[in-house]
Amino acid sequence: MLISPSGADKGRMDTNDLLVARIDEEQLPAGASCESLMHRSIYRRHSGIRAVVHAHPKAVVQLAADGSVPDAHRLVEAEQFLGVVGLVERFQSGSLELGVAVAQALDSGFSCVMMDHGAVTIGETMVEALRRMLLLDRLAQMQVTGGL
Ligand SMILES: [Zn+2]
Repeated sequence: MLISPSGADKGRMDTNDLLVARIDEEQLPAGASCESLMHRSIYRRHSGIRAVVHAHPKAVVQLAADGSVPDAHRLVEAEQFLGVVGLVERFQSGSLELGVAVAQALDSGFSCVMMDHGAVTIGETMVEALRRMLLLDRLAQMQVTGGL
């Protein structure tokens, strides 16, 4: 898998900044994202996917503070595109426990929210996973502001 370096500004990265980590090996490249274990756990459990997006959208994190997730039923296309939005309890960032819990939460959909942390979306392409993240954020913003 390709993984971003720890602390990298995602908006200023190019492909030369990405690190290569083998999914079937335990060793991770030096300087890899602190969430590399989570990404690897997802790829190991869901062999059909080819992209993972992890972000900390403000509205999603705000909703998840009390255990709520963006309601995909508010938009027909969201329900189809996201599936069941999973909720993962609090685990330490970067821990294997978090990675395993997130990978399991993605068994019934293409997105999940981590309490007091952020969200993860998956897809067959990076564009698909990113679109899911943007939709998840939009739904959360609608719920937080009360509008459509
Ligand atoms: Zn994070």
